[in-house]
Amino acid sequence: MATTTKIEVSMRVLVVIMLLLSTGIARSQDTQQDKIRELEKQREYQKSRQIEARLDSAIQFLNNEQYEEADSRFRYVLANMKSIPSDLAYYFGKNSYHLQKYKQSVDWLTKYIQLKGTAGQFSQDASVWLKKSEDALVQQRLAQSAKAQEILAKDFTLDCGPSGKVVCPVCNGSTVIIRKTYVGEKYATCGYCNKLGYLTCEEYNQLLRGQLKAAVDNK
Ligand SMILES: [Zn+2]
Repeated sequence: MATTTKIEVSMRVLVVIMLLLSTGIARSQDTQQDKIRELEKQREYQKSRQIEARLDSAIQFLNNEQYEEADSRFRYVLANMKSIPSDLAYYFGKNSYHLQKYKQSVDWLTKYIQLKGTAGQFSQDASVWLKKSEDALVQQRLAQSAKAQEILAKDFTLDCGPSGKVVCPVCNGSTVIIRKTYVGEKYATCGYCNKLGYLTCEEYNQLLRGQLKAAVDNK
């Protein structure tokens, strides 16, 4: 009987020790996770501080008219911020104007005005820069469409091939031009190909450029 009690007691002691140990382990696991969470929080905090610092320096570069430097920092902030503050829309839109990225500028300034209405800290400024960007965008598009004009053959000298002759495109080689007048059709000699029905290559290129003069129609 005495032996049984002894065993029972020692068993109980063992159980208690194990319980204590396991809670101790659990507790240390908890503190471990707390530490990780704390570290993550600190890292996030540092990151957001760093982003804010980048934004501050971007604004400074913008104010110093160093638009390229400002642009790269604004882009970093845009890429790393989860939620974009409305002021950033204003600054980035304004900076984009100075980089002649007018469409981008219109886009962001419009966004700012949509968000803030007329009551925002930069609402008035944003409207001024938006107007400038819109005007510049129109000018830019006009310039682009002028540049995209068609390339015309008359601006080039064409090679007529080994014969050096081209069938006269005015009379189609017939040497005769038919003119319709109120008294009927009138036939006239083609003044361009000199009754030959063809042009030399030089004449043909002159014709394309509008420089070939027709001989006086003496009929
Ligand atoms: Zn002709």
